[in-house]
Amino acid sequence: MINVPQHPFRVSEIDENDPFVVNALKKHKHYDPCWCGSGKKYKKCHMHREQEKPFTLGKLRKLQRDVFWRKRGCMYPKSSPSACNGKIIDSHTIQRKGPLSKIVDEAGHVMHFESSSDSPGLEAQSIGWRKASTFPGYCSRHDSELVGPIERMAFDGQHEHSVLHAFRNVCNEIYRKQALIESLRFQKGILDRGRDLDRQIDIQYSCNANIKAHSKSLAETESLRAYIERGIVDGNYDAFESACFMFEGDISVVSSSVFQCEFDFEGNKLVDMWDLSIDAELLSHSIVNTENGGAIVFVWQKGGTHAKRVVESFRNIPDDEKGDVFVQYCFVNCENTYFSASWWESLNPKQRAQITSYARALYYEGGAFTANKKRLVGWNFT
Ligand SMILES: [Zn+2]
Ligand SMILES: [Zn+2]
Repeated sequence: MINVPQHPFRVSEIDENDPFVVNALKKHKHYDPCWCGSGKKYKKCHMHREQEKPFTLGKLRKLQRDVFWRKRGCMYPKSSPSACNGKIIDSHTIQRKGPLSKIVDEAGHVMHFESSSDSPGLEAQSIGWRKASTFPGYCSRHDSELVGPIERMAFDGQHEHSVLHAFRNVCNEIYRKQALIESLRFQKGILDRGRDLDRQIDIQYSCNANIKAHSKSLAETESLRAYIERGIVDGNYDAFESACFMFEGDISVVSSSVFQCEFDFEGNKLVDMWDLSIDAELLSHSIVNTENGGAIVFVWQKGGTHAKRVVESFRNIPDDEKGDVFVQYCFVNCENTYFSASWWESLNPKQRAQITSYARALYYEGGAFTANKKRLVGWNFT
């Protein structure tokens, strides 16, 4: 079994001798740069923070949503004001005429995990398929140029199509990372209103640590995007490797993302994500539909030993366990995972509890993936 932590957030211990804390506790003059690292003057930032009125949870959520979903321009290779056409639209990261169409119910809904106002953690909820798995990533012209080749025909394992799927995942990840970093910067200015200095230091410290970690992984993801863009412009995808695992059966769960190879499927730790001196390798995954069922598609940069290791450890899983394990992997690692209401209703309470705890965990601590006796999906790998 994999180890899912009790608390979704990793708690960072702060040493009171840490220069950040020492500096925060010093006396500050009005025009000193603020100790929190915002770049503002102390007087305009933390001087009166303790007296400021905290925002309500509802207001915080709304403000954060506005910052997060801001439009950030077209992400197509060589996009420019003259090449782009139309507004920036909400692009689907999971093809709407492909895998997404397989999980839509009659009312046009699919399901995913989302925060709800009456529960502290994420809950399985339904959402209109038009809104599912989208991000404002491209202008309308470039959205259709990018989607065209992969949407016109059913997936048959072609390497070029695999890489195009990965490109969309990479762009989505970059968008989300940028949004997250901007949200964290924004949170630094409001989250600790009305709190005492100790709590302000905790909050600022943890925001700063997260901004640093996400900025590094953003840079890694941007470098991968640059490689894929070169491939798209040259029409040559030799700089990447892909692996497809074809299966027969109802898709029922779809997912696509790119993330760092921290553990393989057997639970071996490949890299310490919190050691910012090490570059992590990235692995893209997508579940796509094929003529007889679906395929799990992995893409990584050629020569990536960790990514290859993750894929090999997946290959080593017995065929009749692969689907069950991969569904677990998607829920624990990837918020861009959607499923059909009929599948969710078909699960027993124990299975639902397992999936919910995975979806709520923002990270996991290794451990081998093992298949459930009662399988989550009936995917027959060939
Ligand atoms: Zn400040
Ligand atoms: Zn464009």
